[in-house]
Amino acid sequence: MKRILITGAAGFLGSHLCDRFIKEGYEVIGMDNLLTGRLSNIEHLFPLKDFTFYHHDVTTFVHVPGSLDYILHFASPASPIDYLKMPIQTMKVGSLGTHNLLGLARVKKARFMIASTSEVYGDPTVHPQTEEYWGNVNPIGPRGVYDEAKRFQEAMTMAYHNFHGLETRIIRIFNTYGPRMRMNDGRALPTFLRQALEGEDITVFGDGSQTRSFCYVDDLVEGIYRLLLSDYHLPVNIGNPDEISIKDFAEEIIALTNTDQKIIYKPLPKDDPMQRKPDITKAREILGWEPKVDRKDGLKITYDYFKKEIEEKMKEA
Ligand code: UDP
Repeated sequence: MKRILITGAAGFLGSHLCDRFIKEGYEVIGMDNLLTGRLSNIEHLFPLKDFTFYHHDVTTFVHVPGSLDYILHFASPASPIDYLKMPIQTMKVGSLGTHNLLGLARVKKARFMIASTSEVYGDPTVHPQTEEYWGNVNPIGPRGVYDEAKRFQEAMTMAYHNFHGLETRIIRIFNTYGPRMRMNDGRALPTFLRQALEGEDITVFGDGSQTRSFCYVDDLVEGIYRLLLSDYHLPVNIGNPDEISIKDFAEEIIALTNTDQKIIYKPLPKDDPMQRKPDITKAREILGWEPKVDRKDGLKITYDYFKKEIEEKMKEA
């Protein structure tokens, strides 16, 4: 049986990865300091003999007894609001955390994967973004703590690959959504769905002409799984190229949820990327991967998840 360590296990993506690797017959060790993760995301795994949870902060020395075949480093605050609130932790988990886990991977002779991000492209001047594009990042802006930590993480991972011969994988994740996202993480998609559910007006930042491309979580997890098992060590974009402006997206949510909310406009945050869409040629060619879930279907599942969460909170109150 293969053993895999997943950091950020109680988070949105980490918890879905734990589920997937359990399903594939792996022994899964989940690690999280619960800064933004929630135990409720992985509670259902606790009774399983092939799942262990360590409440640990990976920015300090990481020890895991026994062998490890794979390490997935998915711990990090990941929404613009989160990393504005926790700038130092964001930098530390991407830098010190990555270094500690690379060290662990070397000792265990494990294959190592990092969750990088489309944020390495900053406010991109190349569209759609290919893996060859080096990006347009403001290192000292509000997003710099996340973007530069992730860029450092990629550089450090490549250094371990080139210098120590470590087997490494780098995924660049574009905007992803689905159940277990936090409704209040400040991101557009969960915020708009929550606003529709709670009868609030939809807050569009700027004039809403900026674009994003939203990928459903199951598609992303499939891409991660394929990349991990592939023999390709350079960065691969995984995301859904179905691009939409934020204003059109707000209107889509209003139509899909059948609400009569208005759109209200708020100032555009500093360094907010104007366009974002992955070029997924590499993922298609190397992994035979492309997204399968239509935005309408994914949004419906996510809407129902948030609705249930709100109803359960009301019952508790
Ligand atoms: N956004 C918005 N209203 C909100 C939250 C976000 O218009 O209530 C915008 C945000 O300025 C950005 C886009 O929606 O242009 C996507 O933001 P998100 O936080 O989801 O992620 P990002 O891709 O910027 O990291």
